[in-house]
Amino acid sequence: MAYVRVQGLHRNRTPMPNSDKVKTSICCLCNGGCGLKVQIGSHGNVEAIYGDPDNPYNKGKICPKPIEIIENLHGPERVQYPMKKVNGEFVRISWEEAIDTIAKKYKELSDNFGTGSIIGMTSKIGGSFSKFALKIFSEIAGFANYGTGPICFSSEEKVRKEMFGKAAATAPLHDVIYAKIVLNIGNNCAQTKAGQFHWLQEGQKHGAKIITIDTRYTETAQLSDQFIQINPGTDGALGMALLHLVIKNKHYDEEFVHINVNGFEELAEAVKDFTAEKAAKITGIPQKVIEDLAHELGTQKPAIMWPGRGIVCVNNAEHALMAFESLMAILGNVGKPGSGVVSHLNGYGQPANLIKPEHVVKPSFKLPADKVIEGMESGQIKMMYIAGNPCANWPESSRMKKAIGNLELVVSHTLTLDDSASLAHIVLPATHWLEEAGMQPGIHRVMQWRDKAVEPYGEAKPAAEVFKLIAEKMGLPSEYFPDTPEEAWDVERKLIGSISAITVEKMTEKPGGVHYPYPEGGEENHRLYSKGFNTSSKKVELLREKGIVLKYRDPLESPGNESVSREDYPYFVSSVKVAAHYHTQCQYSKLAREFEKPYVEIHPQTAVKIGIKDDETIRIETPTGAISLPVKLTYSVPQNHFFTQPYFGKRYNLDPINTLLPSVLDQPGGNFPHKNILCRAYPEGGCEK
Ligand code: SF4
Repeated sequence: MAYVRVQGLHRNRTPMPNSDKVKTSICCLCNGGCGLKVQIGSHGNVEAIYGDPDNPYNKGKICPKPIEIIENLHGPERVQYPMKKVNGEFVRISWEEAIDTIAKKYKELSDNFGTGSIIGMTSKIGGSFSKFALKIFSEIAGFANYGTGPICFSSEEKVRKEMFGKAAATAPLHDVIYAKIVLNIGNNCAQTKAGQFHWLQEGQKHGAKIITIDTRYTETAQLSDQFIQINPGTDGALGMALLHLVIKNKHYDEEFVHINVNGFEELAEAVKDFTAEKAAKITGIPQKVIEDLAHELGTQKPAIMWPGRGIVCVNNAEHALMAFESLMAILGNVGKPGSGVVSHLNGYGQPANLIKPEHVVKPSFKLPADKVIEGMESGQIKMMYIAGNPCANWPESSRMKKAIGNLELVVSHTLTLDDSASLAHIVLPATHWLEEAGMQPGIHRVMQWRDKAVEPYGEAKPAAEVFKLIAEKMGLPSEYFPDTPEEAWDVERKLIGSISAITVEKMTEKPGGVHYPYPEGGEENHRLYSKGFNTSSKKVELLREKGIVLKYRDPLESPGNESVSREDYPYFVSSVKVAAHYHTQCQYSKLAREFEKPYVEIHPQTAVKIGIKDDETIRIETPTGAISLPVKLTYSVPQNHFFTQPYFGKRYNLDPINTLLPSVLDQPGGNFPHKNILCRAYPEGGCEK
């Protein structure tokens, strides 16, 4: 029942002998921004990938994912050329025929049913060149596009932006060396940001106390100085009790609050009855532990907070995040060395006046993310352009698969024939990120430039080229599309004031690139908010624009669970990530499959209750779907809660776990919940318990 997964953590491959050509690159798999060395073979292929020891942020350390994707690059499962489906089989077509078909249908549908009848699902669109082209295409075509936001970070983005003015991390991760406390909440970075995890250990060496709050005794928890186990989905209650104690004991930073914070009185009122005793009953954390934590945070400053997907991808994220980010603000833990919030969010802003007003087209309608499947079923949505894998990573994935069958045209721009591409009418070969230059933002709020390492495979093209070709064919103003990644970056940075000084040259001058914001005539900013905030009042807005007052929301009374019978569905299910996999890409690597196959983690006492043993198959059901997977028993997870991994779909002949997750949004945050969803379970072939 040992829990630590040793596979692949902190893997640091050294060059193969006789290497003739090594290129420097930046990993674009998870926004960690790890520096890579890519060894090119005599046929122009990638022979090996290892961590770049000169990169100041990962210092040569990487997780296994970049190594695994060597197989993705050169086949055999890579899509080589455009294809269309004829009588259920894919046949090769030319790029010209593919673009012609897409452009004609796009125009016909937008003329007859409005631009909103065509949607994009672009969670994996490529690097900065392609992302910029997507922005241009969206504005000139009225493209109703859904990116990664609702799947990964919408609630976090909303809270931080409204409170501080920007969604991005306020502190770089390497600031942990100045912190007295690092508060990890729902963040198993030893698995999910394994190339950057070493910073926590460096923080420890410099005297920081690492405190991890999680439902599971994760690898990160095991390597922390203190682990606080919390009942699933109750972080908001802990945050409110900490606020209550810090305010009651006058441990907040009075001067900072007076000068920099709006809404302190309202916050104090909202938490006045949220005692440690009350929070202990909800969270399962002993009252004394909550009181001690509040005292420590109140007296040991500065502190850094690193919230992970465990507090973001849940059905009551917004209020929990608001509580903890408010706590950091009133403690004065922002804008100084060793303080602030670390995050992989890197929204550096939208280009102003990108398109002339006479060329801007708005989508005729855009459904909220939780109504997209309904729109596909009802016929409101008629065409979908995919760069990602919504049949695996969108909630209710089985329903999404069926709904795709209703559409008149489905286009997939993809590396492989994944769950979604195999259902498309047109498949376009996409370039891999190692085949496309561009700017890669990372967890330290740095911008690093990645050169093209290898030539595109087969007839693959970047999304930037595809959007330009479609726009030209549709007769849209295509002069906005830049021709190269360098040109695209130059146009983009000049349109975004806060990054206007960050040229390609600056990013490549020294390893590690440049921190943003960095405006023309200004200076590079390692930390945000040392001189005021980006809100309209220039203060931290605890009340925020819509005046939302902080309150605790129970996960059982939050979206996706509130109308589900606790009697019929007595357990919880959550998806959690592991270092060897990242969404669809790693499914197509033998090495990744060797590292980690899908399974369900269960507490032994829950297993006894259900009547199941190690390695036997369990069936988990929610109102939206069912999956069957082998069981791993471990004391590291709470009782009555199942944990499994979110990536495994078609390549494993499995329904992805997202089939279990409801298509609902954290309100008002906007994230789909991936965790703490009510379920029932029983041994495969047995009966429901
Ligand atoms: S931690 Fe993220 S950025 Fe770093 S190597 Fe792994 S996938 Fe790439």
